[in-house]
Amino acid sequence: MPFLLRNLTLSPGVEESALRPLAAAKLGVREAEITALTLVRKGVDARKKGAIKLVYTVQVTLRDEARVRPHGDVARVETAAPLRFPKLTSSERIVIVGMGPAGLFAALRLAQYGLTARVLERGRDVDRRASDVSRFWRLGELCPQSNVQFGEGGAGTFSDGKLTTRVKDPNCGWVLERLVEFGAPPEILYAAKPHIGTDRLRAVVRGIRERLIETGFQVGFESRLTGIGIGQGRVTSVVVNDADEQPCDALVLAPGHSARDTYALLHRLGVTLEQKPFAVGLRVEHPQALINEIQYGRNAHPALPPAEYAQTYNNETTGRSAYSFCMCPGGVVVAAASEAGGVVVNGMSGYRRNGPYANSALVATVGPADFTGNSPLAGVEFQRELERRAFVAGGESYRAPAQSLLDFIGRGGGRILSSYRPGVTEYDLASLLPTPVAATLREGIEHFDRKMRGFVSAEATLTAVETRTSAPLRIVRGGDLQSLSHRGLYPTGEGAGYAGGIMSAALDGIRVADAIAARIAGS
Ligand code: FAD
Repeated sequence: MPFLLRNLTLSPGVEESALRPLAAAKLGVREAEITALTLVRKGVDARKKGAIKLVYTVQVTLRDEARVRPHGDVARVETAAPLRFPKLTSSERIVIVGMGPAGLFAALRLAQYGLTARVLERGRDVDRRASDVSRFWRLGELCPQSNVQFGEGGAGTFSDGKLTTRVKDPNCGWVLERLVEFGAPPEILYAAKPHIGTDRLRAVVRGIRERLIETGFQVGFESRLTGIGIGQGRVTSVVVNDADEQPCDALVLAPGHSARDTYALLHRLGVTLEQKPFAVGLRVEHPQALINEIQYGRNAHPALPPAEYAQTYNNETTGRSAYSFCMCPGGVVVAAASEAGGVVVNGMSGYRRNGPYANSALVATVGPADFTGNSPLAGVEFQRELERRAFVAGGESYRAPAQSLLDFIGRGGGRILSSYRPGVTEYDLASLLPTPVAATLREGIEHFDRKMRGFVSAEATLTAVETRTSAPLRIVRGGDLQSLSHRGLYPTGEGAGYAGGIMSAALDGIRVADAIAARIAGS
């Protein structure tokens, strides 16, 4: 059984081949005794600015394992039981709505059992989608069905492709391995903070679709779910584009958090929905060189990756928090609207993260007490109102309202430098936001500056408005992962309120596919 060695450190710029002698020394054996060494984890320890280290966990196989006993940072590798997928046959008609991570991974997992499904995606394939998005960013011409939120690959396709998740799930490795199989960089298997980058993610998404089609899945683009047939409390059919009705026994509903028409449809049908908290705010942008200097110190080694940050602030009196989120080193702020007449900002990076700016969401928590009314759709209305205000403030052309960070916190001064296209319009951003949200963000920014000296900078710019942070409601499901109100309806992913981020959405899609497979296997 191989050994797991933790806390091997190298200085930035040192070749990773130097890990072999380090591992041999830690194990107390000669280097020649090592027959295999693989990276399990690689992270950056930047706690001491002058002595930044790369920290590794490695797996080592020895010619004679009996010579070493586990001690300190040396442990035996616990091998997990391999995942098993019984081959199933079924006449059940499964429909998957949405080709984001939840829908795609539900499909890949069903394929593993030998099952197939019809996959409906309202947007276009990833290549046509990329040109629609590019036109929006250049000319401000929004395509409501093909944009940063909608289309093949889902919301994260124009993203940094960060794969970090707090979810502990035995399927994490399965997801990462599938992503590498379809073209993601292999280092996601061991990086402490794995990311793919929008450029590589698009090819991965295309590869998954091709595999699904090869294995018998039917994939329909520009195919929007517009109706669901219900009989005796269970799903019997789906209606596509208000025209085509198809029988359906199991509906995997993975529409993401921006499918407002789909939420309204569910509400009309009496599907159990509930309000849930989420977060809204702004996007902050700094020069990447400044963030590198704050996090790594001056004269940091050029081999270090572009620096990241994650900050939180809690106001214990109001109970509201502010936090940074979805940080994109070397990235750009993107126009992420999906609805005409609304401005939404978000961020993305390429694999190399080599752009001149760093951006991050800077958001404050909001909940049912901030919404108007008790309807489960109240959170959607809350988002929509902020997006409309931002649209008007930007000049009604999808330009984003923007302000220097110094101006926003009332110190005055600073420059507006933004990578957002089609452009920005200077505006008093606090006047767009609910007063408690603006106040919490200001307190949060001052707090972040105490943790990261230089965060408050004349070179930092804020753009508005960041509203699509997570689902504004939950499509409530029971222990069998079916809707509480409708049998055969399997809400999943971020839009259902059971995930936040690419990894957790993929894992939730897998969970639903496993539940369907288990039910079929038991019937
Ligand atoms: P989605 O990815 O939203 O997919 C839902 C799909 O369903 C969409 O393709 C949509 O077109 C389709 N759909 C909706 N309604 C219908 C309908 N009625 N009929 C047919 N199809 C429909 N997360 C990270 O973990 N890391 C990141 O770096 C990151 N960066 C991001 C950057 C941006 C710009 C954005 C917008 C999001 C980012 N996220 C990131 C969040 C991440 O993208 C989401 O958490 C994730 O995509 C959710 O997956 P999902 O499958 O649940 O939903």
